[in-house]
Amino acid sequence: MRQVIIIGSGPAGYTAAIYAARANLAPLLIASSVEAGGELMKTTEVENYPGFADGIQGPDLMMKMQEQAEKFGTEVVLDDVVSLDLTGDVKTVTLGNGDVHEALTVIFATGSAYRKLGLSDEDRLSGMGVSWCATCDGFFFRKKTIAVVGGGDSAMEEATFLTRFADKVYIIHRKDALRASKVMQDRAMADPKIEILFNKAVEHIYGDTSVTGVGLVDTVDGTETTLDLGGLFIAIGADPRTHLVHGQLDLTTFGTIAVDGRSSRTNLPGVFAAGDVIDPTYRQAVTAAGSGTVAALDAEHYLAGLPASVVAAAEQVEADTIVVPV
Ligand SMILES: Cc1cc2nc3c(=O)[nH]c(=O)nc-3n(C[C@H](O)[C@H](O)[C@H](O)COP(=O)(O)OP(=O)(O)OC[C@H]3O[C@@H](n4cnc5c(N)ncnc54)[C@H](O)[C@@H]3O)c2cc1C
Repeated sequence: MRQVIIIGSGPAGYTAAIYAARANLAPLLIASSVEAGGELMKTTEVENYPGFADGIQGPDLMMKMQEQAEKFGTEVVLDDVVSLDLTGDVKTVTLGNGDVHEALTVIFATGSAYRKLGLSDEDRLSGMGVSWCATCDGFFFRKKTIAVVGGGDSAMEEATFLTRFADKVYIIHRKDALRASKVMQDRAMADPKIEILFNKAVEHIYGDTSVTGVGLVDTVDGTETTLDLGGLFIAIGADPRTHLVHGQLDLTTFGTIAVDGRSSRTNLPGVFAAGDVIDPTYRQAVTAAGSGTVAALDAEHYLAGLPASVVAAAEQVEADTIVVPV
């Protein structure tokens, strides 16, 4: 049995691991089989993570986080969690390869997935003009003509933010009315750099090495047009990865895992959640990392309150199974 199992290898999971490992809790981190490293593996230059004045490639940053977590004794397993029982004092975590691990605490840091348009060139041009995060990437679109897809508050917010950099920002919305709140709509409509294209759906994204335009279809009369663009932001929502804990952990109205105030404590004792899976608003690497810190400290505090004999049993198993690199 472990003291701590961490599920997820994004900034939240690895930061939780660094803190837990440095507190001598010898965490086991389940990193996922094909998606290890999390969302930053899908991007190129990260310019807003503190400590890297010249920027750093997303995958390099995640590699450094993994190295740092392992250096202090985190065991990283490249597999997926397929089921969980979080209800008892001892939690069980079952992996795709059939292994079952037990722990006194679980930190759940599975992130959230931006919704996609489902177009064939969307992934190919991700990081090359296609983006899901204006805060992350807006800076790269200075003096360009770009578009934001979506009709909700986040699309309005992204579009308004992007006018700081771009010369022109189209909002492309498939319906004849926006879903966004009136105040957000008014702000976007009043901005001279923003033009809203109603009843239009993106059918194609064009570009070899970077986005050059999109193909649009009119959702009312079916006519097709093209629009030249230097970038495309997709703002149609995000889905927190919570399917493993449905029926066990309480969720918020946003679909994120509910935590107690500023803590990482879920409704179940010994179960903590961190990163984008609890965050409907900020969703940045550094906020996820901060949240991972909170979860590790909360787990540490919870373990300190358990009877010494229970923790000693977990410690003994760890001592028998883990070799900490020197
Ligand atoms: C293209 C792109 C560019 C971005 N650029 C920036 C940027 O420049 N700056 C910035 O601050 N933020 C950026 N972000 C946002 C940032 O990546 C996220 O806010 C951050 O990664 C969230 O960290 P997290 O640890 O909560 O989750 P994630 O990074 O999503 O990691 C979640 C982890 O959980 C794992 N997981 C999920 N389910 C399971 C399972 N069943 N078993 C095992 N593991 C599982 C996943 O595989 C993944 O490793 C970008 C996002 C994207 C998509």
